Amino acid sequence: MNVPNHDILIVGGGGAGLRAAIAAVELDPNLSVGLVSKVYPMRSHTVSAEGGSAAVIRDDDSFDGHAFDTIKGSDFLADQDVVEIFVKEARDELIQLEHWGCPWSRDDDGRISVRAFGGMSVKRTLYAADKTGFHMLHALFQTSLKYDRIHRYDEWFGTRLLLDDNGAACGVAAINVRSGAMQAIPAKAVIICTGGGGRIFPFTTNAAIKTGDGMSMAYRAGCPLKDMEFVQYHPTGLPGTGILMTEASRGEGGYLINNKGDRYLSEYLPDKMELGPRDMVSRAFVHEERAGRVFSGPYGTYVHLDLRHLGEKKIDERIPFVRELTKNYVGIDPVYEPVPVRPVVHYMMGGIHTDITTATPIPGLYAAGETACVTMNGANRLGSNSLSELLVFGARAGQYAVEYASEVNPPSYDSLEKMAADEWQRIENAFFKNEGSERIADIRTDLQKTMEQGAGIYREQESLEATCAELLKLKERYTRVQVDDNSSVFNTELTAALELGSLLDVAETVAHSALLRRESRGSHSRMDYEERDDENFLCHSLAYRTDGDPRIEYQDVVITRWQPQERTY
Ligand SMILES: Cc1cc2nc3c(=O)[nH]c(=O)nc-3n(C[C@H](O)[C@H](O)[C@H](O)COP(=O)(O)OP(=O)(O)OC[C@H]3O[C@@H](n4cnc5c(N)ncnc54)[C@H](O)[C@@H]3O)c2cc1C
Repeated sequence: MNVPNHDILIVGGGGAGLRAAIAAVELDPNLSVGLVSKVYPMRSHTVSAEGGSAAVIRDDDSFDGHAFDTIKGSDFLADQDVVEIFVKEARDELIQLEHWGCPWSRDDDGRISVRAFGGMSVKRTLYAADKTGFHMLHALFQTSLKYDRIHRYDEWFGTRLLLDDNGAACGVAAINVRSGAMQAIPAKAVIICTGGGGRIFPFTTNAAIKTGDGMSMAYRAGCPLKDMEFVQYHPTGLPGTGILMTEASRGEGGYLINNKGDRYLSEYLPDKMELGPRDMVSRAFVHEERAGRVFSGPYGTYVHLDLRHLGEKKIDERIPFVRELTKNYVGIDPVYEPVPVRPVVHYMMGGIHTDITTATPIPGLYAAGETACVTMNGANRLGSNSLSELLVFGARAGQYAVEYASEVNPPSYDSLEKMAADEWQRIENAFFKNEGSERIADIRTDLQKTMEQGAGIYREQESLEATCAELLKLKERYTRVQVDDNSSVFNTELTAALELGSLLDVAETVAHSALLRRESRGSHSRMDYEERDDENFLCHSLAYRTDGDPRIEYQDVVITRWQPQERTY
């Protein structure tokens, strides 16, 4: 077999993965980079980001302002040294992206436009209409094509991180989905950029591919997952599908209205109103629901997102995609009618534990983007920080991985080939030689149901305990899943079975971390512990895999200049 010999192997071809690949090849002209993606890179979830990407580019703004908004938004759980680096590097990254061809929207005077976003005290979100992710990913993908040293493995599904005898990352076992062949792809360093895992919940903005595979790979290899209890609900998804109505629709002036015709946020967030942070706006919906002030429809309760006062011209210019989506998916034209919306699972603040250099505790393993927890989002991410994050820390991951790779020898392929053979054996035994009668879809549905019941917007001891117990049962049922399709070409039943394994791993870390965090902070709202408790919980959780329930440890938050204070808006 023609064995590739990469210095760096990146799993994930979304924004973070592509940015890491470009950073790595730009740093060393002799370097070889492998880029594995289970879908063609342009289909990665980054493509669907709508509202924009935050950075300080105007005179009325400052790095300290962006840093403080991010830290306050995080409910003081962000590591402040990380945030300080982030705000400085985000600006350079977004300007760089313009040079690579990203068509930022512009004001009449020619300057790049900025719009308001939730929890940001000034307008600092750059955007390309409301298709920002599409244009960003395109600019990155096209730039990556310049480098023939970036070798792509499109539609290869990574199943396992490979470790050498010293416990260092030395490659990945992956299935070429087109042929069904399993292969070891060796490298001196591995960067995981596999995005989030919102699919552990039933109602989410996240694409079907967002199953937390990379988090699971790292977790199984012994790396802890950090701050997993923090799951972000976005306040405005379309009922039924979960399709996102971007926060830009509120940034541009949209209202949220209850069934009494009131802008109900005046009761919860009088100063910020619709521009409050996502955790608080989502919780306000639940309060309105309990008070009976929401509408009821075939897909549950909802409120109205009213854009009519913005007018057709502004809607078409600034948020054309919102109009396109509502017309196509709910048959509503927002120029003339309000849009039904409700909170929907959107983003994971937690992820693979990394330090400020994106290094994980496993030597040679790095992580960036939504799959990682570096940690700049703490208990609640501010909208439009994620796209900037994947550029800043994607680039850093590329750079630090190159540094590491320059000091180690390539792995021996023979031992890797054996590991890949063992991995295929595991998969065959688990799914093809198994007499079980469990169906993938049944377990997935039950998983999503129990996560929503126990670990949704509001949580409490009892419901979380029930979810943790149910997850154990689901893991046991998972050992009896049988894959009927034994063809090798594009076996999507097999990939769905593998993805279900990832979902179960991710879900158990969310539920157990949430169970032990007996306070309310950011997106984590405990009905039985309603206050934030800095004395006991101003710390990050680290979930380690064991044969039973995950083991949860804690690590201090890094505070540089901003002492925790009450979070009001
Ligand atoms: C609808 C929507 C709108 C959003 N809007 C905004 C916004 O306006 N502003 C903002 O800041 N953030 C926004 N976000 C969040 C942001 O888009 C994401 O957090 C970010 O794009 C994630 O990028 P990523 O590179 O980490 O992962 P992704 O773009 O999700 O890419 C993951 C990659 O990993 C690969 N992969 C996964 N598993 C495997 C495997 N097993 N084997 C091989 N490859 C694998 C996939 O193929 C893919 O290439 C939005 C999110 C959604 C869902």
